[in-house]
Amino acid sequence: MTTEVSTGSAPLLVVEGLHAGYGHVPVLRGVDLHVSAGEIVTLVGANGAGKSTLLKTIVGLVHATRGRVVYDGQDATRTLPERAVRAGLALVPEGRMLFGPLTVEENLRLGAFARRGAPDPEDFERVFVLFPVLRERLGQTASTLSGGEQQMLAIGRALMSRPRLLLLDEPSLGLAPKVIAEIFGTLDRLRTDGLTVLLVEQDVKIALRHADRGYVMRTGAIAHSGSAKDLLADDHVRHIYLGAWDDTSASSNPPQARTGSVTP
Ligand code: ATP
Repeated sequence: MTTEVSTGSAPLLVVEGLHAGYGHVPVLRGVDLHVSAGEIVTLVGANGAGKSTLLKTIVGLVHATRGRVVYDGQDATRTLPERAVRAGLALVPEGRMLFGPLTVEENLRLGAFARRGAPDPEDFERVFVLFPVLRERLGQTASTLSGGEQQMLAIGRALMSRPRLLLLDEPSLGLAPKVIAEIFGTLDRLRTDGLTVLLVEQDVKIALRHADRGYVMRTGAIAHSGSAKDLLADDHVRHIYLGAWDDTSASSNPPQARTGSVTP
């Protein structure tokens, strides 16, 4: 097992022994992790390991049955989703979950509405600085945007709630390598601006290259953790949990964790 790396700063999020599931079907079986302020932490693992369920449990969309979620020093276990948003947690869900018939502007306004505040011009400006294309598309309905633009809108909508911790679920899904690189470049900028990020990602190589630390999840619990650099270099983790990739390949889209396969 790789070792945990301390960043020295206080954890913004602590998850301790977390259990959760759907009905009587358990999915999370004692998850422990933490995210310190200013970090990008990635959570990777095979399809069905429980990564999305963990993000949903942290923001209160799935009910924790045991364990604790502590956010910013406060117990946030079984918080209501609207309270989580107001406290500064914002989830960008897998599949983006935009309101397709609504315009870009209306989708962004809803992000601010989630924190129960009217959006300020600065909120819009912050999003447009990161994603200038959204300014050009302001009156267009979300369903007419390209996949990359939709992902930008989903992130922009989350930013409208002025989060401190952004939880991102599979931002690269279905996107071309160039667009994925753009999205990850934005995450770097957001981190520089002080945002903390917990990222679930199937493109393991790019996720670990942009993250400070990583956790590998297997059947509802953390199987490995360590610095992103160590995880990238760990043959055991690479082959068994992440799927191997060919570093000499020109492709920036390596074999993916969701298949759980070992690819030569
Ligand atoms: P993926 O990459 O496929 O999203 P994941 O690691 O994020 O994988 P989850 O989506 O958390 O995994 O799913 C974990 C388990 O919970 C899977 O067995 C899945 O079928 C099940 N599951 C997810 N959502 C629900 C739901 N709404 N109702 C019942 N079971 C669910």
